[in-house]
Amino acid sequence: MKILIIEDEYSLADAIATTLQREKFGVNIITNGEDGEYEALTNIYDLILLDVMLPKKDGFEILNSLRKEKINTPVIMLTAKSEISDKLNGLENGADDYITKPFHMRELVARVKVILKRKTNIEDTNILEYSDLKLDLATCKMKVNDNEIPINGKELDLLEILLVNKNQIIDREMLANKIWGITSEAEYNNVEVYVSFLRKKLKLLKSKVKIKAVRGIGYKLEEEND
Ligand code: CA
Repeated sequence: MKILIIEDEYSLADAIATTLQREKFGVNIITNGEDGEYEALTNIYDLILLDVMLPKKDGFEILNSLRKEKINTPVIMLTAKSEISDKLNGLENGADDYITKPFHMRELVARVKVILKRKTNIEDTNILEYSDLKLDLATCKMKVNDNEIPINGKELDLLEILLVNKNQIIDREMLANKIWGITSEAEYNNVEVYVSFLRKKLKLLKSKVKIKAVRGIGYKLEEEND
């Protein structure tokens, strides 16, 4: 489970991240509204913790863009006490919950778990699809027709990102950043290595899906017609 924290008060964001990591969540911190919005729109997160007052773009604007793009990632707004009316505003704009600063980490974790559980219950399926390929995120299996093989770790992360963004070219740098956190030449090589692992699995499953390399940019899923 990956959680995006959009919060400009770095010490708070860092404390939240540490707490969530201890609970085995993957986290990413963004400290301004513009980058936060870009990241939120990638639609790879299971939940977003969204501050209201942010540099460059505020939390409500980000929430609006998300919902306009039909991205239903659950959002918990982090509001300051002086912004009580923001709570209502946030809920009307499609936030799932709000929490007032200052808060106890224990309370935050409890809210996060409630929201994620609700989300899992609503989603009767955790399956991403493209062409004949299905990725079951609940059981960590790749399936083509009646054949299935397990997939996990970085390969799972990679395939998940490719499938979520199936209609676009995915930047190699963005992939390395999402999967390994930092970007360096070594990480780019890692991306290539993991893409080759995935290609082998697709071949093994006799899938029509190919991972096409777009030179100088990144990768894209394609369906091969026989
Ligand atoms: Ca703030």
